[in-house]
Amino acid sequence: MNVIDLINSTEKTAFSFEILPPLKGTGIEKVYETIDLLREFDPKYINITTHRSEYVYRELGNGLFERKKFHRRPGTVAVAAAIQNKYGITTVPHVLCSGFTREDTELILLDLQFLCITDLLVLRGDKAKHESAFTPEPGGYTHAIELEEQINNFNKGIFVDGSEMKITRTPFSYGVACYPEKHEESPNLESDLYWLKRKVEAGAEYAVTQLFYDNAKFFRFVEKARQAGIRVPIIPGIKPFSKLSQLSMLPKTFKVDLPEPLVHEVLKCKNDEEVRQVGVEWCVQQCRELMAHGAPSIHFYSVGASLSLRDVARQVY
Ligand code: FAD
Repeated sequence: MNVIDLINSTEKTAFSFEILPPLKGTGIEKVYETIDLLREFDPKYINITTHRSEYVYRELGNGLFERKKFHRRPGTVAVAAAIQNKYGITTVPHVLCSGFTREDTELILLDLQFLCITDLLVLRGDKAKHESAFTPEPGGYTHAIELEEQINNFNKGIFVDGSEMKITRTPFSYGVACYPEKHEESPNLESDLYWLKRKVEAGAEYAVTQLFYDNAKFFRFVEKARQAGIRVPIIPGIKPFSKLSQLSMLPKTFKVDLPEPLVHEVLKCKNDEEVRQVGVEWCVQQCRELMAHGAPSIHFYSVGASLSLRDVARQVY
């Protein structure tokens, strides 16, 4: 069953989470440990992030450096397949514009088709670490909506060079990203919602939000999205606050505000375990309120927070 059907087929708020593929050279065991920890809460689907390649500099020993492309976290497709096979849980690999040409994407879609993985989250992707602004790959795309178009064509049996597939199988269905506190590059929320609406009209069946800590912002965002004519499910993305260092890291990385009462409680803590407890309590309150407002699903960002997530899920699922 694909994500939209899984969400629609349950009356309760569905549980899902996101994991990262392992760092290159490490095994998949940590991924399995996270899933084993969270399995009892009946995850309806699991997302697997994708990470573009980076450039690293290797000293050649003669005063010169070699610039090399390096994939720190390869393996999204393989991890998605491994999880789906081992646990029988629907997996949702992320597909990106960033760092990928349209031909690269086509090969990924073909692999996924063979593996019977038909759910995707379609994203532009983060800019490369060395870039100050997002630059598309030559032969790649600038925005998620262009990637949607390629996937739609693939679903119709048309490759990027215009040639036709001999056999078409189950088409892909997909969701896209959205931002209750607006995307960092967007001039205002209205403009961001305009593009979200276009992404939905292009074929996205649901949207998953960037993480947030203030439910009021999410509720306002959903209201504005509905006023703008966006009717698909909007799935809140939640990450339990878990470390003191996140006070500056989360706003910097994800462009989100931390509510004053949360900051106040975190600053009273003597160590990270106390911070983690505060984060769990905050997250439980957030989830209860989201559920009371009929959230179709809550999507958890589990990275570095799987224990907190288990503690939260025990209280709300
Ligand atoms: P887009 O939809 O392309 O939007 C980017 C900006 O451009 C927005 O400001 C939007 O308003 C505007 N815009 C959109 N379309 C157009 C258009 N056609 N013309 C002009 N302006 C336009 N990053 C990763 O690298 N890997 C991941 O696995 C990953 N997973 C994520 C999962 C979720 C749920 C979320 C919320 C984000 C994730 N990200 C990931 C981060 C995401 O890729 C970045 O936030 C990225 O900067 C924007 O992606 P997008 O798909 O929203 O882009």
